[in-house]
Amino acid sequence: MPSFMTGLYIHIPFCRKKCVYCDFSSVPSVTGVPQSYVDVLAADMRRYRGEAIETVYIGGGTPSLLTSGQIRAIGALISDTFDTTAVTEMTCEVNPESVTLETIAALRDIGVNRISMGLQSTDDAALRWLGRIHTAHEFEIAFRTVRNAGCDNIGIDLIYGLPGQTVDSWRSVLEKAIAFHPEHMSLYALTIEPGTPLAERKIIVDQDMQADMYEWAGKFLAANGFVQYEISNWAKPGYESRHNLIYWRGGRYIGIGAAAASCDGRRRWVNERDGAQYTRLVQTDNNFVVDDECIEGPIRDAEHLMLGLRLTAGILVTDDIRMRHGGAFDQFITQGLMEMSGNNVRLTPRGMLVSNQVLREFV
Ligand code: SF4
Repeated sequence: MPSFMTGLYIHIPFCRKKCVYCDFSSVPSVTGVPQSYVDVLAADMRRYRGEAIETVYIGGGTPSLLTSGQIRAIGALISDTFDTTAVTEMTCEVNPESVTLETIAALRDIGVNRISMGLQSTDDAALRWLGRIHTAHEFEIAFRTVRNAGCDNIGIDLIYGLPGQTVDSWRSVLEKAIAFHPEHMSLYALTIEPGTPLAERKIIVDQDMQADMYEWAGKFLAANGFVQYEISNWAKPGYESRHNLIYWRGGRYIGIGAAAASCDGRRRWVNERDGAQYTRLVQTDNNFVVDDECIEGPIRDAEHLMLGLRLTAGILVTDDIRMRHGGAFDQFITQGLMEMSGNNVRLTPRGMLVSNQVLREFV
């Protein structure tokens, strides 16, 4: 069922150092987030004055590089621009090396009630290999800082399937991660993205090993009280990411900042991806939207499938979707990769293991 909620996403495209696997829109900055970038967010937001939003997500990049003053300025911008009366969830991504009591206090003051923490591994050698600049111990201190500041909704991100990693060493990583008692876990298989240092080093990942790790992790998390609700996401009951559910359920979203995408249900547009260029364009009153496309009809149906099938709940199949994709559904159902119940279709656990291949069918 499509979501009628609207999520606000704010992108902070700066990190202390670039991780070797990362192809997100972010650039290294040793001096934190330029004030000029924070200043232009106001002009970007102005286009949506008065819009009602239900969730806020400050992502990156590394939003915890923002100073407490910049965080408070962004909080004021949000409440001055949008109708926030129905906001129930406000998330901020943080990385361990930039978590301070001051940062977290400022985030809490502007209403952030959910923190997503990039851990990636509890093994220091793996963290170094990934180009992360924190140790497992530094993560532990950062996690305690966030928890002690009163945040009762914390998610941890991990990456699995590193070259040389075994199911046993992955088990140890996951055991240590859940010992922190997070409310949410996101597990991502290492992928080698074109243009990243890992691609240049011609690193190959063992996808069979990754499938074994994924399967084991699902059982382990279920045994520890987590419920899988999306291909890569597990939560304690009631702690699913409401903001990300808006994307997967085909809801509306407003993206502010470089590389941020917005969608009103009929059109989708994306801001200039380069942070410095985005800042210049906004400052000089030039158009900073680089892609703008209509997503009605078959495109919307395909997106609905690609995103909705990521959810364990699956999606409702309309007559149009059945007409266009009924053949593919039958084929995947026969192969045991999908299951249909009434008008609802979803991936089976085996289908989730090979979701990339299955979802590609609907592009
Ligand atoms: S911290 Fe996150 S966004 Fe920044 S470089 Fe690493 S993976 Fe990319």
